Amino acid sequence: MITVKNLHKTFGKTEVLKGIDYHVEKGEKIVIVGPSGSGKSTFLRCMNLLETPTSGEIWFDGKLITDPKTDINKVREHMGMVFQNFNLFNNLTIMDNIILAPTKLKLMNKEEAQETALNLLKRVNLTEKADAYPSQLSGGQRQRIAIVRSLAMNPKVMLFDEPTSALDPEMVGEVLDVMKELADSGMTMVVVTHEMGFAKEVGSKVLFVDEGIIMEENTPEEFFNHPKNPRLQDFLSKVL
Ligand code: ADP
Ligand code: MG
Repeated sequence: MITVKNLHKTFGKTEVLKGIDYHVEKGEKIVIVGPSGSGKSTFLRCMNLLETPTSGEIWFDGKLITDPKTDINKVREHMGMVFQNFNLFNNLTIMDNIILAPTKLKLMNKEEAQETALNLLKRVNLTEKADAYPSQLSGGQRQRIAIVRSLAMNPKVMLFDEPTSALDPEMVGEVLDVMKELADSGMTMVVVTHEMGFAKEVGSKVLFVDEGIIMEENTPEEFFNHPKNPRLQDFLSKVL
């Protein structure tokens, strides 16, 4: 689904990504953990070209998307992304937030988009919020809406950048539950998170990104029970 080859990213004089190679198979749930500032967000944002790699290749669904000829907007239609801070449009109702992209891009007419939106709202138990505005929702509800808004585009992969980090603790669970349900439905997912329970339970692989490289990659069992790299051992001793 996604292949990353020798990815480098430099901001000014700082080399943030120092050569990342990785391959995400269809249906996999890749969880990325690591210290703050290590390049996790940059790595994720390079996957859908929200950041332009300095060098290296990104392949998505058989296409070399780092090729300058690629229509990146077209590619992004198939890659959902959920951020820490929801990024909903505050001046639009929940319904209008969800139908905006599919109708604007003429993937669906308004009726079809609304029907899809209602089904998605049902899936996250927020049907009654269709006509509310984002400010009338809790953080956890807003993030569940941000997730289904991405799903309305019927993406092939979902990228999550610390989707629960901005939430009050009591709301983390409801968002993780939606993500687990999505994982069970077969979605290909790449998730940057500090939720180690989620990584253990849902991850098909867990990656430790530190200092701009993938320092360790393993199944959740091995990753958490037998970490090899001393920096991962140290990281886990602080977060577990
Ligand atoms: P993480 O998500 O692991 O916390 P990031 O990928 O956000 O790390 O950031 C890695 C490093 O790159 C940090 O030192 C950060 O300051 C720097 N960085 C990220 N984005 C930019 C940017 N747009 N311009 C300059 N520096 C950036
Ligand atoms: Mg980050």
